[in-house]
Amino acid sequence: MQLDEFEEWRAPPTSPYVPGSMKLLVPRDALHATFQLLTVAGPLESCVFWYGRRDGLNGTVTAVRAPAQHSTRFNYHVDEAARSRMAATIPDDLRPLAQIHSHPGHMVEHSRYDDAMVSSRRVLSLVFPHYGRVTSAWPLGIGVHEWQRDYWHLLAPDIAVRRVELTSGQVSVGDLR
Ligand SMILES: [Zn+2]
Repeated sequence: MQLDEFEEWRAPPTSPYVPGSMKLLVPRDALHATFQLLTVAGPLESCVFWYGRRDGLNGTVTAVRAPAQHSTRFNYHVDEAARSRMAATIPDDLRPLAQIHSHPGHMVEHSRYDDAMVSSRRVLSLVFPHYGRVTSAWPLGIGVHEWQRDYWHLLAPDIAVRRVELTSGQVSVGDLR
């Protein structure tokens, strides 16, 4: 069976997202590497994980990884073994900070499938449109989701740009596919 993650849409949130002061700092090199890793998959959904340091409420991305995964046009899947192999390439002092995956078109809201696939409710979940072929300026067109009050909220662009801030810094990149 060819699974299609868009067969069933999820219900809207019952309470609005409340912006806080937390920031995820993302070096431009990490963003660039993420685009490259997503587009290498061609016209297939794929996923990438960001790891880094947590400092109080804030996080700084220092590592980008594409795990071994199963990709189709409308779905992606990473099994536990692949997750473990990916985690083994990450230094012990780093934490998962975000999970990223691509969608076929411009729709970047979570599907029900996406709600279920995020590995942790402490990370952000970002959806990149057009299988990672993004041409507009960050973060336009990208869906930034955060878990709050029992819901993966899709952040409005003006809130997303403050929640996920581009910066400079060193990044390690790995492709385990
Ligand atoms: Zn999705």
